Amino acid sequence: MTDDGIVRHFFSGFIRLHILYHAAKEPVFGAEITEELIHHGYRLSQGTLYPTLHQLEKLGYLQSQTRVVNGRRRKYYRATASGKRVLNEARGKLHELVAEVLEDHNRDFQTTRRKRHDAGTEPKL
Ligand SMILES: [Zn+2]
Repeated sequence: MTDDGIVRHFFSGFIRLHILYHAAKEPVFGAEITEELIHHGYRLSQGTLYPTLHQLEKLGYLQSQTRVVNGRRRKYYRATASGKRVLNEARGKLHELVAEVLEDHNRDFQTTRRKRHDAGTEPKL
């Protein structure tokens, strides 16, 4: 898979969560989101960022407001109540994923497999 393919396949979800996280703390605008994501090692073009922001807004997770800063119009995004709810749900799932993938706590999977094996429905590998 090309680098771009990986970005689309896995990282687009990380990026959406990352945006939601910052927008839940304070209003954020496109250029500073790009900068923040670069800081975290994501290369994100404006052509990807803006459709993502619009999509999150359309889903009702973000709300935008245009402000004039130094004579220029700038669109700020902040998380809505439902965006914050999704973020909280994702937090729980992230905890689980980190525990399993990073800390290697895959006990639930092993327990389930052992039960199936003990019940005789699963051959031992
Ligand atoms: Zn960040």
